[in-house]
Amino acid sequence: MDSQLLAVARACKGYLDEAEGLRLYELAREYGRRGPVVEIGSYCGKSSVYLGAGAQAARGMLVCVDHHRGSEEHQPGEQYHDPELFDADAGRMDTLRELRKTLRLAGLEDTAALLVTSSVSAARLWSTPLGMVFIDGGHSFPAAHADYDSWHGKLAQGGVLAIHDLFPNPAEGGQAPIEIYRKAIASGLFEQLPTTKTLGVLRRK
Ligand code: MG
Repeated sequence: MDSQLLAVARACKGYLDEAEGLRLYELAREYGRRGPVVEIGSYCGKSSVYLGAGAQAARGMLVCVDHHRGSEEHQPGEQYHDPELFDADAGRMDTLRELRKTLRLAGLEDTAALLVTSSVSAARLWSTPLGMVFIDGGHSFPAAHADYDSWHGKLAQGGVLAIHDLFPNPAEGGQAPIEIYRKAIASGLFEQLPTTKTLGVLRRK
């Protein structure tokens, strides 16, 4: 991956490990040829840079789906709240400005299309078969299931589904992402590809 883009990704706020980011880049570069790459939960754009760099190399597109009002864990008083991302006028979180800055610095404004709405609403508008879906949205059980239920059927045959924050040990993290990962495997629709740290990867049969 281009060193300047990697520097932008490293400097961006977010919770993605670099090895996981580089795996996303490789996946987007390979599967972004088959159809658009959709990211659920962009936050400030750290994963968007890796995915966008891969999609750009594949001459494909990245679609960043996020309402930009923060997930449950980003709200004031919660564990991952960042006061710099709070819009006092609106009285709500606003990560859209930060995402646009990240994409501008990365030179990815022509590769990434932003869908500023909830994942469920975005899915209702979407019909183009996808090369890749990356789920890293809300980490509550209802949010994670809604993301999986809304998007997995939109993958093209042979496309990949990546899910972030898999923690087999409940003491290490929330269980919603791994629950939808297991649900996907149990559906029989996917074959497992190797996992990178907490990033699970499944290919649509
Ligand atoms: Mg995550």
